Amino acid sequence: HAKSLGRSAYSLYTDNMQQQTQDKLNLFNDLHQAIEEEAFYLVFQPQLNSRGEASGAEVLCRWNNNGVPVAPDVFIAAAEETNLIIPLGRWILRQSCRHLQHWRQQGCLPASFRQLAVNISPIQFRDPQFESLINELLEEYSLEPQWLELEITENTFLGNNDEARNKIERLSQLGIRFALDDFGTGYSSLSYLQQLPLHKLKIDRSFITDIDKTDQPVPIIESIIQLGHNLGLDVIAEGVETEQQRDYLLAHQCYEFQGYWFSKPLNDEAFCRYLAELQSCP
Ligand code: C2E
Ligand code: MG
Ligand code: MG
Ligand code: MG
Repeated sequence: HAKSLGRSAYSLYTDNMQQQTQDKLNLFNDLHQAIEEEAFYLVFQPQLNSRGEASGAEVLCRWNNNGVPVAPDVFIAAAEETNLIIPLGRWILRQSCRHLQHWRQQGCLPASFRQLAVNISPIQFRDPQFESLINELLEEYSLEPQWLELEITENTFLGNNDEARNKIERLSQLGIRFALDDFGTGYSSLSYLQQLPLHKLKIDRSFITDIDKTDQPVPIIESIIQLGHNLGLDVIAEGVETEQQRDYLLAHQCYEFQGYWFSKPLNDEAFCRYLAELQSCP
């Protein structure tokens, strides 16, 4: 049974079709139950500015299925396939707002802290109740919209998706911030960058990995940063793992960073401790 087999139960990449189907069904079942039982938790990865202060954080969802961690790429994809991403995404947004309110009341956020970034899957964004949920949560947790940054990918507004575009417009008017996640990995033309009220480009980790020890230039990174600046957008690099990568990015006018070099994603308590340590030893 899937529960006792743990991670090996989701051998989604085996050649055996029957096994694959069974594994997938097990995953869907477990996921469905996990949503009922709220068996998920959130971790928070700090984002830092060029002065080494915390500028924000990204919320990342975790699931230990009976003690066995399931990779977010796996369970988020499964949740999208079954539309379970809608209740799961709603829960993630609510918990994110709850944590944010709590941190503000506790005084654990430094003055430099500007936004909590939440990943929004295209299906969740398409939900007709998405905007009312956002409004409800802002009200319930007394948050100004500026505190919330929604991380979307190109898939969210691909094609002739006027509905998504209008939704971005309206939420942006309200004061919600939008970051374009995994930037540089999509396939669409860049014209949307001029049309949509985005605030931030998030350079995909795959490009950051290309900054190696020989200090060879990485033209794509330099171009993305310049493109962002030319459009008046903030630019953040994700997956910064070495000091050298950070120095390279800084030298090319990227002023915001997220990655293991600074911190792995942390649970609530460890996150507040990290913020306190940052402030005490600048
Ligand atoms: P993403 O939004 O691009 O998130 C960044 C991923 O990079 C996270 O993986 C994070 O833990 C990882 N990461 C951060 N810094 C480093 C680093 O320095 N080195 C390396 N190697 N990795 C780093 P994670 O948590 O496994 O999430 C993977 C993807 O799953 C996310 O990509 C996002 O697409 C999705 N995801 C995670 N949480 C949520 C969520 O709450 N909602 C939705 N819709 N999607 C989520
Ligand atoms: Mg993200
Ligand atoms: Mg990303
Ligand atoms: Mg990614």
